Amino acid sequence: MSQVDQSPRAANLAGHAPPGPGELSPYEIAQHYFGVAAERLGLPDDVRTVVGTAYREVQVQIPIRRADGLIHVYSGYRVQHNGARGPYKGGIRYHPEVDLDEVRALAALMSWKTAIVDIPFGGAKGGVNVPAGDCTQGELQLITRSFIDKISKVLGPTRDIPAPDVNTNAQTMAWMMDQYGKLNGYTPAIVTGKPIALGGSLGREAATGRGVIMCFTEAAPALGLTPQDTRVVVQGFGNVGSWAARIVQDMGATIVGVSDAYGAVQSEAGIDCHALHDHIAQGGRLVDFLGVDVITPDELLSLDCEVLIPAALGGLIHGGNADRIRAKAIIEGANGPTTPAADAILHDKGVFIVPDVLANAGGVVVSYFEWVQNLQHFRWTEEDVNQRLGTIMSRAYGEVAARSVADAVTMRTAAFEVGIERVVEAARTRGYI
Ligand code: NAD
Repeated sequence: MSQVDQSPRAANLAGHAPPGPGELSPYEIAQHYFGVAAERLGLPDDVRTVVGTAYREVQVQIPIRRADGLIHVYSGYRVQHNGARGPYKGGIRYHPEVDLDEVRALAALMSWKTAIVDIPFGGAKGGVNVPAGDCTQGELQLITRSFIDKISKVLGPTRDIPAPDVNTNAQTMAWMMDQYGKLNGYTPAIVTGKPIALGGSLGREAATGRGVIMCFTEAAPALGLTPQDTRVVVQGFGNVGSWAARIVQDMGATIVGVSDAYGAVQSEAGIDCHALHDHIAQGGRLVDFLGVDVITPDELLSLDCEVLIPAALGGLIHGGNADRIRAKAIIEGANGPTTPAADAILHDKGVFIVPDVLANAGGVVVSYFEWVQNLQHFRWTEEDVNQRLGTIMSRAYGEVAARSVADAVTMRTAAFEVGIERVVEAARTRGYI
């Protein structure tokens, strides 16, 4: 007998919120933002098709016998969107709602993201529709090794280099590297986000959150903000959200609201996010943290603050709640957190948005550093990693901001324009189009 798990606990962990009435699916959202920029760039239809659709889509069956004695059959996906600028690059997520539509959307975002920060990678994404939160470590290891066996032919340090994403981590990458090594020999550069002991880069774990806050620092002067007078709300307190919160708190900002999949809390006086992180790491629940008031997830979005950092699911800021947002600026830590309907409402309200393809690129930048270090068999210091990350994020932010001013478009459209233009240029000079 076979079955696919859909337990409520697993469904609660981060993936993509189901589209609301009249809202678009993740792939439709990615295509919408692509279409707006492609139109502005005047891309001919044939070029649009080549760079707007995926080069290769792999779907495999992953049957495993779980602790309940049943064979559970999961689907694994790897979508390689565009490789004109370098090897395909993108994370692999484990979530029961993962499907081809979502993976396609995220793969396309990776192509634009790697081009916007100008690192020599293309874009890819992967996923397995497994309820990671309900699996034992042994089951996750079996699933991971089986998935790598089945997609290893399209991977390689000069072909496609996976990384962690939602519900996958350094341990998952260690299993992937080991399994790929069994088939092809020792190859640390096959995945990034590895444990430090296996060639992972110092600074990788914090990199996405750090990049989000670097974008805040870049945006702050034009918004008339300094960290000390900035109140921040963070939606999602996982890797990205908790690092962003801790880093900006250390700079002097006040974190007035935080949520995770199980609830939301607020404190006007400020939430100590280092202590909150330790509380959760020790098995505590966010809503049981001392000195905060429990609120609803909807109330979190309506909190009075200067900066909102979505760092949870895609699609959580939508047409039904965007109007209640009171933040001056949104720095998108999550992938695809804002639907086009919400984007239009926020634009009309004058909310400044630093889009995902720029704001959360810190992770892939330090993944690039990890790959470079692995190829050189040499380790950089954490200080070196953070300083190089700052240089790249600042340059990318400046280029997108300048484009936004020059073309009188939003930061999102400007970022897509810059990314698409670079991919098209590479594809053209290679002779693909
Ligand atoms: P994670 O699994 O570590 O954390 C996700 C957090 O969101 C958890 O705290 C979870 O409880 C919370 N959450 C889930 N559903 C929620 C809801 N409905 N409301 C509020 N909180 C909710 O994942 P992560 O690695 O931090 O990734 C978060 C987002 O950032 C994803 O969209 C991911 O694609 C994106 N991202 C991550 C990286 C990275 O390096 N980890 C890089 C780029 C983009």
